[in-house]
Amino acid sequence: MLQRIHALTGKCPACGKEHALRTAEAYVGPGESTHLAAWLKERGARVCIVADENTYPYARPLAIAAGADVVILPGRAHADEETTDMLLHMPSFCAAELAVACGSGSLHDTVRYTAAERGIPFVSFPTAASVDGFVSGVAAMTWHSRKVSYPSVPPVAVFADDAVYAAAPPRLTASGAADMLGKYTALFDWRAAQVLTGEPVCERIYALEKEALDVCADAIRRRAETDPVLYARRVMEGLILSGLAIQLCGNSRPASGSEHHLSHLWEMHRINPELGALHGEQVGVGLLTVLGVYGLFASRPRLLSDRFLMPDPDVVLDRGRLETVFGPLTDGILEENTPGGAEHFSLCALRVPDRAASERELRAALSALPTRSAVRALLEAAGAPTEISAIGLPADEEFAARSAAFAPYVRNRFTLLKAIEAEKLVGGL
Ligand SMILES: [Zn+2]
Ligand SMILES: [Zn+2]
Repeated sequence: MLQRIHALTGKCPACGKEHALRTAEAYVGPGESTHLAAWLKERGARVCIVADENTYPYARPLAIAAGADVVILPGRAHADEETTDMLLHMPSFCAAELAVACGSGSLHDTVRYTAAERGIPFVSFPTAASVDGFVSGVAAMTWHSRKVSYPSVPPVAVFADDAVYAAAPPRLTASGAADMLGKYTALFDWRAAQVLTGEPVCERIYALEKEALDVCADAIRRRAETDPVLYARRVMEGLILSGLAIQLCGNSRPASGSEHHLSHLWEMHRINPELGALHGEQVGVGLLTVLGVYGLFASRPRLLSDRFLMPDPDVVLDRGRLETVFGPLTDGILEENTPGGAEHFSLCALRVPDRAASERELRAALSALPTRSAVRALLEAAGAPTEISAIGLPADEEFAARSAAFAPYVRNRFTLLKAIEAEKLVGGL
């Protein structure tokens, strides 16, 4: 799987940047648990397998076969300050020379973060095809109830065993498939940033992420006539390819746009109660919300109006306005959006030297987006929720408008949603 991707490392002829890949090996298929046990033994290092109560049944036989230690994080461990602190104080983790993340998304983020803190490598052993973060170099943490992305360390290898992840509850695979479908708007937002701000797009990484999305979308379309294990394998392959694209890029730009910002906002519980919904389930619903907004925007006779091109950062980032939603988290939100000064606010980069050309390019990118109904059908075929009420959120217009208005500020990343919402604020609060 990795040979072709290794060819993308080094100085990139497409974007001129240096792309690095820390993950040297990636395996998806049958018998990968046995393969991993042998691989760990060969290393001869002191290994600590990190599991939680749900994934312990997979960690235990691996530990016995590989002669490794196991630590169990309690319950449904979140990637937050409490869990990372607990792990960093566990003697077998402190003594380990190599860690194994045996679990799904949050557990991987916890291990990614703590292994980097300790300066030891880790191996990914995913127990569900639920998110694309397994091999990424970015840890999605919840720090004092704020969602933050930390540059961290990717696994040195990933072993995804059919017998493990394909046996996970179907809801987890559905969530992973929905996370992948979120790449439609993530990739679109990257393109929109290129058109509207001149942000560079690496066409090779863009193509890799698009391929990961297509592999998944295609598998979802054929799901009814596909063997369930093969279907889960395709989703897992898509997720791993997506994670590798993030790793090559050095940040989550190819895989995370405004649909993810909605999910992050909802996970901050500032405008809604705590959710039981999974990451990908939220991304899927966020994706439909964003496609609705983008569809409406695309129907305008003129996209790049004067108002659109002249957002007022002072109004957009007005503390009083942000405080109504972010409350005590407002300082953190302001810091995120103005790293090293107000001029670094992503919206300040909005610049179109040739308005007609940008209008054409943006329209072309918008028309390449799938329709909302096509994506809804894909989410349904994947078994993922499509209604906002199905993930425990209010189904009224006001909530949708509030979500769209404030989600873009959870990250200082340019998205079309951010520009559309800022346009509404031109000329007053
Ligand atoms: Zn490149
Ligand atoms: Zn995601």
